[in-house]
Amino acid sequence: MKVFLASRNAKKLAEMQRILAEHLRGAHDIEVLGLDDVPAYDEPVEDQPTFEGNALLKARAGLAATGLPTIADDSGLCVDALNGMPGVLSARWSGPPKSDERNNTLLLDQLADVPDDRRGAHFVCAVAFCAAPGDEVVVHGEMHGRVVREVRGAGGFGYDVVFEADDRPGVTTAELSVADKDAISHRGKALRELAPQVALRLAAAG
Ligand code: IMP
Repeated sequence: MKVFLASRNAKKLAEMQRILAEHLRGAHDIEVLGLDDVPAYDEPVEDQPTFEGNALLKARAGLAATGLPTIADDSGLCVDALNGMPGVLSARWSGPPKSDERNNTLLLDQLADVPDDRRGAHFVCAVAFCAAPGDEVVVHGEMHGRVVREVRGAGGFGYDVVFEADDRPGVTTAELSVADKDAISHRGKALRELAPQVALRLAAAG
């Protein structure tokens, strides 16, 4: 039984594979494939105003191109002092080409004058699973915390180096072990909710 994870972000893909494998383990003989494991296809432009909309767009395109049950996520950081931005624009916040380093520098500059008690932010992750045409599930997870004042840590990806989670104050999510981040992260929460539904549908199909 194969499931396709439609993502190009190697670190995000690794997180998703790890969490899903853990929660699907033993139930079924499931092989998780990434974009590099399937023939290339035209990936859709992520032009929806919501995380859910973009995740569905990517999952539908993956199913249509590969014929495989497809999982896709869309995620980003919503900063209170920026009225929820960068949100769905997180990956390209500082313009093309996509650069985590420039995104983080820009975000820290934008928040330079924002006092500590107004630096709240949360990550959002929407994950869509298209098992077959018309058979779709979308789940959603959040991780709340704050934007710190300087880059710290070497793990994770994207904005992890500037974000402290409320559940783990004092360290950025780039300073957490992968297991500790998975346990509290927006993606971990969403995928743990989705995993039983994936297992059910694959069992029904197989
Ligand atoms: P997407 O690939 O369109 O979903 O873009 C997600 C963007 O949001 C990434 O490029 C990161 O900048 C940011 N992001 C999403 N999840 C995380 C996370 O777990 N840690 C750090 N940054 C994240």
